[in-house]
Amino acid sequence: VSLQLRRCPSHRVMGGLHEPPQDEMIKTITLIPGDGIGPEISSAVMKIFDAAKVPVHWEERNVTAIKGPGGKWMIPPEAKESMDKSKIGLKGPLKTPIAAGHPSMNLLLRKTFDLYANVRPCVSIEGYKTAYSDVDLVTIRENTEGEYSGIEHVIVDGVVQSIKLITEDASRRIAEFAFEYARSNQRSTVTAVHKANIMRMSDGLFLKKCREVAENYKDIKFTEMYLDTVCLNMVQEPTQFDVLVMPNLYGDILSDLCAGLIGGLGVTPSGNIGANGVAIFESVHGTAPDIAGKDLANPTALLLSAVMMLRHMGLHEQSRKIQTACYDTIQDKKVVTKDLGGNAKCSEFTDEICRRV
Ligand code: NAD
Repeated sequence: VSLQLRRCPSHRVMGGLHEPPQDEMIKTITLIPGDGIGPEISSAVMKIFDAAKVPVHWEERNVTAIKGPGGKWMIPPEAKESMDKSKIGLKGPLKTPIAAGHPSMNLLLRKTFDLYANVRPCVSIEGYKTAYSDVDLVTIRENTEGEYSGIEHVIVDGVVQSIKLITEDASRRIAEFAFEYARSNQRSTVTAVHKANIMRMSDGLFLKKCREVAENYKDIKFTEMYLDTVCLNMVQEPTQFDVLVMPNLYGDILSDLCAGLIGGLGVTPSGNIGANGVAIFESVHGTAPDIAGKDLANPTALLLSAVMMLRHMGLHEQSRKIQTACYDTIQDKKVVTKDLGGNAKCSEFTDEICRRV
C-alpha cells in the first residue's frame, strides 16, 4: 500500500448519503454511527482519520429495524446495499429493546452478512493501570450458532427449551479462522475452549473439528481447556493465553471477562469477519444512555476497532500511527476522559489524539 496517498476529507453529515469520490485509491467504508453515544464517538473517529490523512470515504447508513416482506425483521436496504458494495463497515453501539419489539440489530447484522468470526484482541494499555500489566490475548468466538441460534419454544406451560445448535461446518470454519489468524499474526498457540465433558455431542463435535484442523497447522501449538478451567486460570494468570477459540455463548461471556482484564469495554476493540469478504468492526460497549449527548464518551473502543479495520484493509502505516497516538494520549494521562481517570471531554481527548497523529 502506497504511503503517498492524498488526503481525503471525510463527509461527515450524520445520516447523509454521499456519492463516493472517483478515486480508486480511496476506499469506501460503511459507517453505522449507532445510537446513544454512537454519533459522538463516530465523529471522533472520523476527525482522527482526517488528521491522520487516511484515504477513506465514509458512507453513513442508519441501521434501524424495519419489517420486510412477510413481516420479517431486516436491516434497511440502503445499509445492506452499502455493505454489499464496500464490504467493510465500522459500527457504533445499537440499542436493543428488552424482551419485546425488534430483535438485536447486532444479531441481525451478523446473520445478514454471515459474520461468523468475532475477534477481540485484549492487550494491556501501558499507563492505564489494571490488575495485570501484560495481557496479550485474542478471543475468537463462533458468531452464528450455539445457544444463539434462536431456536426456543414452550414444551408445556412453565417449561421452555432453547436449543444449542453446533454444526460440523461452522466448527471447522471457526477453527480454521483461528489457526489462520494465529499464523498471520505471529501468534504461537490456539486453545479450544469447551465443555465436552458435559455437552458431549455438541461441544464434542466442536472440539473434534478443532483437533482435526490443528493437524494442518503444525507450526501452531494446539491446546484444549474446559471453559471453567479457562475462567479460573484467566483471572489468576492471563498471560498464559494466546489465541482462544470457542462456541458462541462461551465467547460472549469470556470475551467480556477478558476485556475486564485490560480496563473494560471502553478500551476493547472488536471485529466481525464474514464468509463473503464482508467485515464489520465495532465497539463492544453499549449506547451509554446516561452520558449520551454530553460530550463525555470515551471513543477509544471504536477508534481501536477502526485501527483493526485499517489493518484488515492493509493500511498498516495509518493504523500504526493512530494506535500510537491513542496509546500515547492515554499513557500521558493529561487529556483523558473520566472513565480513563481524567476530566477531558470526548472532543478534547479526540483533539489531543489528532495533535499527535
Ligand atoms: P452500556 O455499555 O451502554 O453502559 C454501561 C456503563 O458504561 C454506563 O455507565 C456507560 O456510561 C458506560 N460506558 C459505556 N460505554 C462508554 C464509553 N465509550 N465511554 C464512557 N463510558 C461508557 O451498557 P447498558 O447500559 O447495559 O446498555 C445500554 C444500551 O446499549 C442497551 O440498549 C443495550 O442493548 C445496548 N448495547 C449495545 C451493544 C452493541 O451495540 N454492541 C452492546 C451492549 C449494549
